[in-house]
Amino acid sequence: MQRSESLLRQLLQTLGFNLPIYAHVVFVNPEFTLYQSPRNKPFIFPTQITRYLKNLNATQSKLTKKHQMLATNLASLHMTDSPFTLLPAYEYEQLRTGITCAKCTSFSLSLKGKYCICHDCGYGEVVATSVIRSVEEFKLLFPTRRITTNAIYDWCQLISSKRKIRTILEKNFKKVGVRQWTYYE
Ligand SMILES: [Zn+2]
Repeated sequence: MQRSESLLRQLLQTLGFNLPIYAHVVFVNPEFTLYQSPRNKPFIFPTQITRYLKNLNATQSKLTKKHQMLATNLASLHMTDSPFTLLPAYEYEQLRTGITCAKCTSFSLSLKGKYCICHDCGYGEVVATSVIRSVEEFKLLFPTRRITTNAIYDWCQLISSKRKIRTILEKNFKKVGVRQWTYYE
């Protein structure tokens, strides 16, 4: 938090502002409780947010053109995607392949007719739905890899027929290329 505070201070200085900064950590999840919360920390808990905002609004202050410029400036600098997103490094070979249960994420599934059945929680899902879900995972984890019948066959493990995989891909994704160069988007 101190780091964010000093970053914000730096930013304001670059923009030509020298304002006092009071940093707080706001816990927005209404279900959240912190047992034995330290009293000297600038925490604002869910039940305190409304009161805190009321107090802020009640504070008398004069907004000048300079403040408005600062607001516009800050808004224009807002980034929706953080460049600091920390993802662990991983390789395809390190990951456990196989379809996981949609309910409990277990890997122990087996096919029963049109369904994937979970051995741990008993949940059943139509095979095509499970495969599509796995393709979406694959896309998210490996955005640069092509979605091919072979790639998804290997990724899903559970489905023993490549033809079945191909049919599901053809029905649910856009086919690009021909014959052995075919992939899906
Ligand atoms: Zn399950």
